Amino acid sequence: MLQLNEFKVIFKRVCELNLLSYARCVSFKSISENRLSIYTFEGYISIESQQVSLWVSLDNFFPLSLPNIFLKPFDALGFIPHIAKNGWVCYVQNEGLLSDRNNPVGIIRDALFRTKQLLLDGLSHKNRQDFLDEFEFYWGQLGNVQSLESFISLGNKPQRIIAKKFKDKYIAITDCDIDIHNYEQCTSYSAIYLPLNSNKFVFPPSFNQFWTLEEIRNVIFSNSSTESKQFLKDIARKKVKNEEIVILSQITPNGNTSVFGILFTGVELAHPLMEAAKVKNIIPLSLSRRDKNYLLPRGGSQIEFNNKRVALIGCGSVGGFISQDIIRAGVQNLTLIDKDILEPANTFRHVMGFNHSYPKKVLALKKEIEIKMPYISITAQDKSIEELIANKKFHFNDFDLIIVALGVPTIELYLNQLCHITKDSPPIIFTWLEPYGIGGHALLTNNGGCNGCLECLYLSDTPEQEETLFNKASFAEKGQTFAKTLTACGSLFTPYSALDSAQTAILATRLAISVLNNEERDNPILSWKGLSKNFLQANFKLSSRYSQTENELFEKRYSYKNDNCPICGVKTDD
Ligand SMILES: [Zn+2]
Ligand SMILES: [Zn+2]
Repeated sequence: MLQLNEFKVIFKRVCELNLLSYARCVSFKSISENRLSIYTFEGYISIESQQVSLWVSLDNFFPLSLPNIFLKPFDALGFIPHIAKNGWVCYVQNEGLLSDRNNPVGIIRDALFRTKQLLLDGLSHKNRQDFLDEFEFYWGQLGNVQSLESFISLGNKPQRIIAKKFKDKYIAITDCDIDIHNYEQCTSYSAIYLPLNSNKFVFPPSFNQFWTLEEIRNVIFSNSSTESKQFLKDIARKKVKNEEIVILSQITPNGNTSVFGILFTGVELAHPLMEAAKVKNIIPLSLSRRDKNYLLPRGGSQIEFNNKRVALIGCGSVGGFISQDIIRAGVQNLTLIDKDILEPANTFRHVMGFNHSYPKKVLALKKEIEIKMPYISITAQDKSIEELIANKKFHFNDFDLIIVALGVPTIELYLNQLCHITKDSPPIIFTWLEPYGIGGHALLTNNGGCNGCLECLYLSDTPEQEETLFNKASFAEKGQTFAKTLTACGSLFTPYSALDSAQTAILATRLAISVLNNEERDNPILSWKGLSKNFLQANFKLSSRYSQTENELFEKRYSYKNDNCPICGVKTDD
């Protein structure tokens, strides 16, 4: 914690180095709210022969925290970018700025240097474009500004939208019926949305000087398309309300969309955008975006997943993690299939822990995801996949991708066979975990018209011998069993930890994303390798595949295929 005597040493050094001219201490006040003592000193720097006053504030955590620098007053150099209304200078453009905590005076010198550069750029208009990229920040600091949530999709066409008012305050604007918030208590009013689409950008007004009605009309009409102008003509014919809201948007130079609004009160005679109108108050509206386009991830690529349907069969430890990972990756339409309930014994291995209200895994997951993630549609099937298939309630071709995380080879081989004989089956990913954290796997099949499938992994190289099924991808040597009795009554579990499940889920989810993006054109088996210490201590033997490096495993990801595979092998017309 920075103490007063330490601050005095720093301040003395700042004076000796003449970092600020006429430097003097301003305050050592304690801000009770967050219990931070703030040490502030003031001084001058010269910007193009103009002396401007800067305040430098250090909190208790300095030099772990950066100094806050304020320009006093904020418009000493006119209205320039990166200065907040209280004069705070946004001199750190990148969050990862590394400062040497053993050199506090150096940190202050660096901060002042950056501030000076920023002020010079502001004065010469060199960084004027930055106003546009951070438009909403400046708009949000205007006097009397009111904050609303925005659910409108910000298209490039003008449209009528709805403003939701609770008691005497507008709380949201929307163009859809999706009920994220409880609007039952709200009254709805019509409003309009106008995208500004012109080549000349609209710059934010200065904090203490909002646009006049005249200027607002100017901004809107000189940046409106023919379509918007026609739209406004139609609006002009409608009966005017006492309060009118106009929401505007513009594309920023860096390609984002900024959105902002204006509330007109005491409106008479005509819509406020019309010449004939009289208006009492003009209030800027700052909007916090909650719309689908803004919130939903893009799945790491340009291709959107909006219409992709994914089924996840098996929502145990690995599947539980996959369900959450794949939603975060951008999949919006997910079907979960699992008949099991959450077991107290698995509390720390399942992503849902234990849940008394929703004992069924799929229902607990659906509830959890839908509460946290808006715009997501989860279908939960609490039956086994065998039962759903037998009752014709599951159709492979309803999906763009199927992920199987059952950990039951018999059922998985059955699904593998079914998908290869069913017309229009999508690609399938099988994923499973090794015991004792030695690794995990994800196999893709039925993708891109290529061969390679789960059956290939189980085909014996020496078919004449009658052997029990063995998975050739396994990191454990043939003929060992790992199920361990947890309780006397014999509920079986294979020893693994939640971390192993999570890592396997990430492997499978990354593979799923590359399939949905059309980046993976063949059928690889991907594996991750963990440490073998616990496995060996329990007296088990590793397979020769485990001795390969991760690099070798990756390079040989397609070489598991068996040309004689009865499921995926090349079919001849005999
Ligand atoms: Zn900034
Ligand atoms: Zn095969």
